[in-house]
Amino acid sequence: MPADPSTSDLARQTAPAAVERLVRYARVDTQADPASATVPSTARQLDLSRLLVEELRALGLSDAVLDEQGFVMATLPATVDHEVPTIALLAHVDVAPDAPAAGVRPQVVRYPGGRMPLPGDPSVALDPAVSPALAGRAGQELVTSDGTTLLGADDKAGIAEIMTAVAHLVRHPEIPHGPVRVCFTRDEEVGRGVEGIDLARLGAQAAYTLDGADAGTIEDETFNARSASVTFRGVAVHPGYATGRLVNALKVAADFVASLPRDGRAPETTAGREGFIHPVAMRSAEDTAQVDLILRDFDRDRLDGHERLVRDLAARAAAAHPGSSAEVAVADSYRNMKEYLREHPGVVARAEEAIRRAGLEPRRGFIRGGTDGARLSELGLPTPNLFTGQQDIHSRHEWIAAADMGAAVATLIHLVQIWAEPASPAA
Ligand SMILES: [Zn+2]
Repeated sequence: MPADPSTSDLARQTAPAAVERLVRYARVDTQADPASATVPSTARQLDLSRLLVEELRALGLSDAVLDEQGFVMATLPATVDHEVPTIALLAHVDVAPDAPAAGVRPQVVRYPGGRMPLPGDPSVALDPAVSPALAGRAGQELVTSDGTTLLGADDKAGIAEIMTAVAHLVRHPEIPHGPVRVCFTRDEEVGRGVEGIDLARLGAQAAYTLDGADAGTIEDETFNARSASVTFRGVAVHPGYATGRLVNALKVAADFVASLPRDGRAPETTAGREGFIHPVAMRSAEDTAQVDLILRDFDRDRLDGHERLVRDLAARAAAAHPGSSAEVAVADSYRNMKEYLREHPGVVARAEEAIRRAGLEPRRGFIRGGTDGARLSELGLPTPNLFTGQQDIHSRHEWIAAADMGAAVATLIHLVQIWAEPASPAA
């Protein structure tokens, strides 16, 4: 749902500063590199991290540091005397490797409605036919790239919103809140966003990633994820003398792949809360063939069902080729973070109340994938994902509405206050 620019004074008041920060941060090239083994994967990410440390210190967060692992951490001290849990706000400095990201030239424009070509490459446009979230946005202020690069609102919008909320709270010490830890991560886009994070150093009892999309949304669910590897063994014999003896593992593996579900339980035919079985790689010779798959489902029993089906189909393929065998190895990748967040209902409930006070109707969302918050939740730090307003991410027509950025800032300012309220929802 687009944030109605009139819903919250606080949102309207803070949006311009959030936009100004996003435009500034977007110009810094922070693209991650999945092929790199260094930490972080690209040194350029730290250009923004260092800038953020300086800005946090200038705001008065004097303990701001960039640690050895590339995490920015800083504390906004409490303004109340009573005991309040420490919460952390997280966003990631890196941008996706899927689109050009060097030399980003952001523009702030009033969206006229309809198809709006971007100035650096008019073949690239914001188009409601491609991007349904543009519906009802005519007249709103949007931030886009010039069309030659991505914008990087994923996740510099999250960073800009956290920084703007912190700046507002610094300027308004009369607003009651507990200790707030700010943490800017790196390499989220290459799946290593919280690898090496020191949770004791972060020192929070609950956390929120700001990396979601539609205004008013809080995501507290991810897939349960497993990987499976099926190894078929055949019998290799010189093909000139193979009669009655050769068992070609490649053919066994091909039969197995062909037997996998298609009209459901496949990523290309499922949506919403449906899970899937997805073959991702096959390596094969005559005597041995290996098929790698990923299994995903929001429900653990259904995920078990996907695993049983893989084992069953592998055994059937081998049985159809006497002399061959199938071996299945399965490993857990990550779990639905709802399993952990369920034990801390107050973390999501407080965010929903904050969204309401920011003038929006909260909506629960789910992620058809993983998130850094899922890993943090599993490690014991409950961490749902809050909206930022980012849209059409990882593309040259990425955009974000100023009103949604203001709504996110207002949500954060309400959120820290709700955590300091004695009568807040049951934790
Ligand atoms: Zn992101």
